[in-house]
Amino acid sequence: MTFSAIIVAAGEGLRAGPGEPKAWRSLGGRPILRWSVEALLAAGCADLVLVVAPDRLAPAGDALGGLERWKAVAGGTTRAESVQLGLAALKGAPDQPVLIHDAARPFVTGAHIERLLVALETAQGAVPVLPVPDTLKRGDDGLIERTVSREGLWRAQTPQAFRIGSLAAAYRDWPAGEQPTDDASVVERAGGVVAMVAGDPMLMKLTYPEDFEMAEQLVAAQRVVRTGFGIDAHRFGPGAEVWLGGVAIPHDRGLIGHSDADAGLHALTDAVLGAIAQGDIGDHFPPSDPRWKGASSDRFLTHAVELVAARGGRLLSADLTLVCERPKIGPHRLAMRQRIADLLGLPLDRVSVKATTMEGMGFTGREEGLMAQAVVSVETPA
Ligand code: MG
Repeated sequence: MTFSAIIVAAGEGLRAGPGEPKAWRSLGGRPILRWSVEALLAAGCADLVLVVAPDRLAPAGDALGGLERWKAVAGGTTRAESVQLGLAALKGAPDQPVLIHDAARPFVTGAHIERLLVALETAQGAVPVLPVPDTLKRGDDGLIERTVSREGLWRAQTPQAFRIGSLAAAYRDWPAGEQPTDDASVVERAGGVVAMVAGDPMLMKLTYPEDFEMAEQLVAAQRVVRTGFGIDAHRFGPGAEVWLGGVAIPHDRGLIGHSDADAGLHALTDAVLGAIAQGDIGDHFPPSDPRWKGASSDRFLTHAVELVAARGGRLLSADLTLVCERPKIGPHRLAMRQRIADLLGLPLDRVSVKATTMEGMGFTGREEGLMAQAVVSVETPA
C-alpha cells in the first residue's frame, strides 16, 4: 500500500531542557528524527516531507545522509501551519494516504503503520490510542477539585493517518487563531470519521529529560546479534613466505594475489561485512584499484570493523578455519589469534583459528592453493 508521510520537527521542545532541539539530539548514535524517517521509508513510504525550522534545512541533510525519497521544507510558527506547509510539499494525489508523525516518537514500526493504513480504508482518519490506566484528577493550587471519570478516554499518539486531500480541506476549514493539539482533531471538527487503532507504549513521545534517558536504555536493550560468513582462496606461486591470519609464515612457496593474498584475513573481512550486510571485500577494495596492490590485508579487516562501529555495533567473536596441506598452521596459531584479536578489538578467548587438510583431495589437497573460511558474530542496534 503506497503512502506519503510528513514528519513535524519544527518545534524547539523546550520541556526537554537546554541543548539542541529534541528531534536533533542523538539516540543510540543517530539523530532522533532519523529513527522515524528510516522506519517510515522501510515501511514503504513513497514520499516523505520533513518539516523543520528554517535554520535547520541544511542540518536535515546531514541528519538524513544516505536516505532517499525525502525532502525538507521550512515550517511555520505553529504546528498546524507546519503540517499545512508539509501537505503542500507532497507529490501524491488527493486520495493518497498520508501519515503525520511527531519526530519526537522515534520507535514507530511497520506494524504500527500497517494497522493505521488498514483502518483508513473505512474512515477519514486513523489514530493509535492507548487507554488511560491512572485515575484522573482535576485540580489547581495543589488541591484536587474532583476525580474525573476516565471512561471512554484515550491517549492519542502519532503517526496519524489521513488522505492528503481531505486533511488539507479540513485544515482550510479550521478556525483561524485556534490551535489544534493534533491532526485528528482537525478532521473531527470537519465532520470526518476517525478510527481508533491499538497504540503502543513504544510510540511514546520523548518530552522530558528523563524520557531521553529511558529511550537510551531501551535502545541499548534492543540489540541484535548477527552472524557473518566469509570464504577465500589463493593460489600458490613462487616465494619464500605466505601471509596468513595477519602473520608471515616461512614456506617454500608464496600466495598469489593483488594484495598480500592473506586468505585468512580476507575471509574474516568478508564475514564481518556479511554480518552487517555491507557487501564484500571486492566492493570496498576493488582489485582494479592500484592502491591495494601488495596492500597489507589488515587494513581491509580494520575497515570492516570500523563499519561495524559506525553502526553502533561491536564484534563478539570470530572463528577462522584454514584449509591446506602445508604450511603447518599449528606453530603459528597463537600468533594469528593474537593478531586477529588486536584487529577485531577482541580478547584472545573470543578468537579461534583452526586448521584442517583435505586429505590430499581437491585443489588444497594437490597444494595448488589454500582456502580460508570464517564465521563472526557481531552485535548491533536493532
Ligand atoms: Mg582474497
